[in-house]
Amino acid sequence: MAALYRALSDPLLAERAIDVLDVGGRVVAALTGVAPAAGAALGIVIADDLTPSQSAKLDPGQVVAIATARGAFTAHAAIIARSLGIPAVVGLGPAVLAIDSGTTLLLDGDAGTLTVGPAEELVEQARGRREQQRRRAAVALTRAGEQGALASGQRIEVFANIGTPADAVRAVEFGAEGVGMLRTEFLFLDRATLPDEDEQVATLLEIAKTLDGRPLIVRTLDAGADKPLPALPMPAELNPFLGIRGIRVGLQQPQVLATQLRAVLRVAVEHPVKVMMPMVATLAEVLATRRVIDQARTALGIEAELEIGITLEVPAAALMAEQLGRHLDFFSLGTNDLTQYTMAAERGNASLEPLLASPQPAVLRLVKLIVAGAAQASAARGRNCWVGVCGEMAGDPACAVLLTGLGITELSMSPSLIPEVKAALRSVSFDDAYRVAEAALQASDAQAARALALDLL
Ligand code: PEP
Ligand code: MG
Repeated sequence: MAALYRALSDPLLAERAIDVLDVGGRVVAALTGVAPAAGAALGIVIADDLTPSQSAKLDPGQVVAIATARGAFTAHAAIIARSLGIPAVVGLGPAVLAIDSGTTLLLDGDAGTLTVGPAEELVEQARGRREQQRRRAAVALTRAGEQGALASGQRIEVFANIGTPADAVRAVEFGAEGVGMLRTEFLFLDRATLPDEDEQVATLLEIAKTLDGRPLIVRTLDAGADKPLPALPMPAELNPFLGIRGIRVGLQQPQVLATQLRAVLRVAVEHPVKVMMPMVATLAEVLATRRVIDQARTALGIEAELEIGITLEVPAAALMAEQLGRHLDFFSLGTNDLTQYTMAAERGNASLEPLLASPQPAVLRLVKLIVAGAAQASAARGRNCWVGVCGEMAGDPACAVLLTGLGITELSMSPSLIPEVKAALRSVSFDDAYRVAEAALQASDAQAARALALDLL
């Protein structure tokens, strides 16, 4: 059946061959009790697109790399592949689906290319680049345990984004000084029901223990749009990215949010835990969430200090940063969504690449505005509202330099990216970072803005 499908000239229909193979593999697995991946050769997975839960199930021991027809750099499937350390090229177009099994392929995750039947010379060059990259990574890893700082001494905290307890182990191995974002929705991707408060406490405790005293920022559920959760079914929407997602779900279903916040508070008694809410657009949402936290605090009789922040990713919140900052302890900039909403370009849509590439000068201008707003709010409140970044920009050394030049003091990224970002920060003074960041605000596009920082590295 798969061969019949693959022979069809329409690439979309030819792609259905994968579904037949997938179903076949599952049936065999059910009959034999042997998982389909067992004994499979190491290879490149080719797919139309992957959901976050499909990505999360890939075994880095079996899958050498991923190539997809759809998707973009900040889509959640790509984010999970990055955290598993699996090279990926996404958004290659439907032609990749017609590639036969067993074809020799050369995938270059840095360049974003997939070459079919590469000449031996090309393969040799790629091997050389891979060796060079491994050596550079090994050198950076030797200093990954040092604190993040610029060459001129300013301290920049370098944290990890995680989605599972296993990621927390990797975060520590790669020198994370803490977790800047636990995407709690990744804990629940495949569950039919959400875990109760005790189970959530147990998972958070496991992560907190691995972190051994390092701070842990727990982000409340960010379900919706490209992160559907079977445990939280939602009505279909015309524009899910502009619909009921993030804190909007939490405020519409307060018992879900309250359970999570109670679990966070219980763990905060013994560990340095902070909490942040995704997709906040207004002060009313901040105040409503604070009320849920206060109620949970009273119900549990917990006095523990708990820093409260938001994933700042909606342009409205950026424009209102000073007002929101008066009620918050930190902003962690979700530049994936901030770019999506600022550029009006869906983050998973590969054909919008020039609009989605980072750093967009328009987004950098918002970063500058947010940092200024947070400083004004801190002065007014007499308590610091710090500003970090947890979007994928933070893990790109060039973008990291620009962000620190704009006054960002914390960067949170996929664990494996930490050593090289710390190395880049160590090589640049604040004055130079400031100078290129100011120039990048005037750049004509993302590529030009990034090139300014690359010149420094
Ligand atoms: C972001 O939007 O940049 C972010 C950090 O959150 P997520 O990628 O989970 O939407
Ligand atoms: Mg987001």
